[in-house]
Amino acid sequence: MRDYDVVVIGAGVAGLSVARELSRYDVSVAVVDRREGVGLEMTSTNMTLVCQGGDGLTFRPGTLHAELNVKSIPLWPRLAEELGIGFRRVGGLGLIRNKADFQRFMKAYNRAFRSSTKPGAPYYIPEGSFEPLRFLGRRELRELEPNINPSIEGALYDPNLAVVDPVEYARALAENAKANGVDLYLGAEVKFIERRADHFMVNTDSEVFRAGFIVNAAGIDADRVAEMVPGARNFSYVPLKGVLVDLDEEAGELFRHQAYFLASPLEPHVRAVVPLIHGGLRLGIYLQPSLRSDKSVPSGAVEHDLSVMSDIVPGHDYRSHVARVIVGIMPFTNAETGWHDYIVDIPELVPRWVNIVLGPAGVSASPMLGRRVVELLSLSGLHLEEKRGFNPRARASLGV
Ligand SMILES: Cc1cc2nc3c(=O)[nH]c(=O)nc-3n(C[C@H](O)[C@H](O)[C@H](O)COP(=O)(O)OP(=O)(O)OC[C@H]3O[C@@H](n4cnc5c(N)ncnc54)[C@H](O)[C@@H]3O)c2cc1C
Repeated sequence: MRDYDVVVIGAGVAGLSVARELSRYDVSVAVVDRREGVGLEMTSTNMTLVCQGGDGLTFRPGTLHAELNVKSIPLWPRLAEELGIGFRRVGGLGLIRNKADFQRFMKAYNRAFRSSTKPGAPYYIPEGSFEPLRFLGRRELRELEPNINPSIEGALYDPNLAVVDPVEYARALAENAKANGVDLYLGAEVKFIERRADHFMVNTDSEVFRAGFIVNAAGIDADRVAEMVPGARNFSYVPLKGVLVDLDEEAGELFRHQAYFLASPLEPHVRAVVPLIHGGLRLGIYLQPSLRSDKSVPSGAVEHDLSVMSDIVPGHDYRSHVARVIVGIMPFTNAETGWHDYIVDIPELVPRWVNIVLGPAGVSASPMLGRRVVELLSLSGLHLEEKRGFNPRARASLGV
């Protein structure tokens, strides 16, 4: 049996951000994951975007989704530098096809972005952490993207929007946490958990852990892990499948920015293109409610994603440039209202336990998430004393 102050279940960006934050303090921490590597589930099947203000326009003020994303904005550049990972500001283009699009972008711009830049606003973005967004007309847009469809009239330009490689990020978080004392157990699936008076017994298929505190960061299976302890599951979500298509580097030469069309009742899927940090383009997102285990590609999904690129840069047959098709499954809360929110809390009946359910934009929100969970653990009774010698840049090999 192994004994830890905190056991984190899940080595995706959520669990690893928490583990790295905890490694600043004098506490013993283990991260356990059923996979043989880190960041191999949701963390590896997404659009790779790091929201930097503009794309948070559509996040509902008052939600944790909006708050953790906006508060993560100023943390990203330093974090990427400390971890030595690529963080590229590709810039985002909200594409305007007509007056109605322009009016909708203007409304969003006024509602969310400008209010967040005023001191005293609920989610204040500190001055200097971003470049202001601006509207581009046809000519300026063409200067940025010479191949763009001539029928597109302009864009709302967000120069801040960035991309990372989320698996590289997860790995760097894990290597830095390990260098600062966190233990990682890969290939260890949590099967059942027993709650005792002042600790938990976490049973995996290979080891048993005694844990003073638990962080449940099991991604799409966070509900199943929470169900292992009566009272710990105080949330629900539906699995939502997203299909993404990667185009090769040759197609990547045609377009340099992230770009997207506004959703409409006639077009329920996300319609976006993203330049990948290591070359090529990612297209998506064909969305569909799904079983969590169903990784099949629905008919019409690849065609949908390819049509996004044809609408942005017409005149090419992109089928011959498809490098791979990716299926990601994310949790979506409040499906009935359409307003997603994160779950990051301590269930009332189970103190010393934190549930994390992210979903859309969870990579972007992860720096602030790590800090928030450490605050919750402290409120829950975890004694935190800063460790002397925490090194934000150190790396230890994971051996995988
Ligand atoms: C199609 C799509 C597009 C997206 N686009 C973006 C984007 O552009 N930008 C952005 O910021 N976010 C995006 N996201 C969201 C982002 O990918 C997620 O919010 C984030 O990766 C969630 O990380 P996580 O650590 O919670 O989950 P995961 O990465 O899934 O990690 C959970 C881990 O828990 C482990 N686990 C589960 N059960 C057990 C168990 N019983 N025992 C041991 N281990 C267990 C799993 O193996 C897994 O490694 C997108 C998501 C999807 C699906």
